[in-house]
Amino acid sequence: MVKAVVGANWGDEGKGKITDMLAKEADIIVRFQGGANAGHTIVNDYGKFALHTLPSGVFYGHTTSVIGNGVALNIPVLMEEIKSITDKGVPAPKILVSDRAQIVMPYHILFDQYEEERLGGKSFGSTKSGIAPFYSDKYAKTGFQVSELFDEALLKEKTERVCEAKNVLLEHLYHKPLLDPRKLLETLHGYREMIEPFVCDVSSFLDRAVKERKTVLLEGQLGTLKDPDHGIYPMVTSSSTLAAYGAIGAGIPPYEIRQIITVCKAYSSAVGAGAFVSEIFGEEADELRRRGGDGGEYGATTGRPRRMGWFDCVASKYGCRLQGTTDVAFTVLDVLGYLDEIPVCVGYEIDGEVTTEFPVTAKLEKAKPVLEILPGWKTDIRGIRTYEELPENCRKYIEFIEEELGYPITMISNGPGRNDIIYRDKD
Ligand code: GDP
Repeated sequence: MVKAVVGANWGDEGKGKITDMLAKEADIIVRFQGGANAGHTIVNDYGKFALHTLPSGVFYGHTTSVIGNGVALNIPVLMEEIKSITDKGVPAPKILVSDRAQIVMPYHILFDQYEEERLGGKSFGSTKSGIAPFYSDKYAKTGFQVSELFDEALLKEKTERVCEAKNVLLEHLYHKPLLDPRKLLETLHGYREMIEPFVCDVSSFLDRAVKERKTVLLEGQLGTLKDPDHGIYPMVTSSSTLAAYGAIGAGIPPYEIRQIITVCKAYSSAVGAGAFVSEIFGEEADELRRRGGDGGEYGATTGRPRRMGWFDCVASKYGCRLQGTTDVAFTVLDVLGYLDEIPVCVGYEIDGEVTTEFPVTAKLEKAKPVLEILPGWKTDIRGIRTYEELPENCRKYIEFIEEELGYPITMISNGPGRNDIIYRDKD
């Protein structure tokens, strides 16, 4: 049985916590896209961790953590991350890395920085992890697959060829120091040594696992609105954030993905630039940011304060639809317990007309939120374990949003811990 855990919005919905929780009953957890540019925050018995490349199941002894072919693999970052968890007493996780995954090169990170510098105020708000240059090279067919590290002649020829082309840009566009192919080759030899113990034919491994009826979790990074096709282009990421891409980025048949758990946060947050219709500002935003998540809404990778907003039914309904949602996990609901009234964005007004369909970016820029105000519940709901025990206004908030989304909310997360979850039977 293959399940996907993905985000409905801009990321940071709490996917890490939901994956970590579901990983208890899973055998294999797979990252299928993205790289070390975003992070999951996980709180468990070992402490609090920010993971960037490793899947959220690494804390269990019984799971295998897989880095699929769709991932932007930063080898030194992966090594550091493994060390950071084992240093805190987590048993060495079982990790497999696809021989078809491609490698984030040191120059991808440089090009990311140089391009942001060049664009100045018009930049995309990149995390400068090399993700956009990495995926550009992958599709321009000048990327390096993990398997290629083990073919010395190819590696030597390719590093020379790639440096030649990159150096033209470095010299004439960016006016920066040039790459030395010999040094690059040495770096790649180091990468080869580091990654060798983990390399695997992941799609064959998963094929066997699926036939043996193992439970496989596909863990998405970011959310629908950051998808390069269906998101708020160009303020998107460079790999698909949709569950459908799980089939490609892990190498499994699409029909094997039987459950798609789309994570929606009870309010909105976003990082980086781009239209954000239900955004709030000033003291109202500061308070939600301070109280949000587990210790405030700040980027797990960059520490940047996140932009805050009310729950956006238009964006989330669209986000759930594109994911192919079977279940919604509604998270971080406990945070809203301080509010007397909770505004919810139920429509977008664009050029005087109200719509509930999420528009293309040019129209999105013009959208104004249509808000509906729901009563708050003014209680701390952490520790509650059954739906019936939730305050009435809290249940009404959930049911209102469920109706607007059109997808069943089957899990409600009311705290950062593994056990802070309320299952709701929808049968
Ligand atoms: P992800 O990238 O989707 O995994 O999300 P992040 O890890 O960036 O953000 C989720 C943050 O919210 C983390 O700090 C989690 O520990 C925290 N979190 C997750 N679920 C809940 C919840 O139900 N309540 C609270 N208060 N915090 C939560």
